Amino acid sequence: MKIGVLALQGDFAEHLAMLKKIGADAVEVRLPEHLDGLNGLIIPGGESTTIGKLSVHYHLIEPLREFGKSRAIWGTCAGMIFLSNDAGRDQPLLGLMDVQVKRNAFGRQLDSFETDLQIDELSEATKDDAPYHAVFIRAPIIESVGAEVKVLAALADGRIVAARQGRLLATSFHPELTDDSRFHKYFLSLAA
Ligand code: GLN
Repeated sequence: MKIGVLALQGDFAEHLAMLKKIGADAVEVRLPEHLDGLNGLIIPGGESTTIGKLSVHYHLIEPLREFGKSRAIWGTCAGMIFLSNDAGRDQPLLGLMDVQVKRNAFGRQLDSFETDLQIDELSEATKDDAPYHAVFIRAPIIESVGAEVKVLAALADGRIVAARQGRLLATSFHPELTDDSRFHKYFLSLAA
């Protein structure tokens, strides 16, 4: 299984390390030709405006859209914003997932926090139903989803923090910053 990580900005190194830990062939993607031969792609957390602008600069927008039509893409945090079709403001987006997101949804007082989530699809895919410890850093939330999108996880107050549309996966939080490799294994199953 060969998985790329978009390595323009943000915490791509942590995703690469986690992928290697679980035995995937993990490569950095910086140019369109780096997408050749990949089974899936992760877009990391960071700053979605910067990731978007750099993707425009390196002519990656259309190749990434093409890639996402037939292969798996997972966006974490800023990556989730970049995958969406509506971030409520003008910035470059891939528009692959039919989700409306809100950036920095937790405001200043609670801009970073951790919480346990019960994520049934993750438990089923990994045969492990321990709660999932999620790390949020100036995180976005998903405000609404289209008909093709399945909600995977929400906070106790109902705000959506993980969703899937076919092979496209979006999480508000950062599985690459924990020791729990279940989300990366689950993504490999989507990419297979
Ligand atoms: N606040 C960032 C944004 O809006 C996302 C933060 C993150 O990826 N940890 O792009």
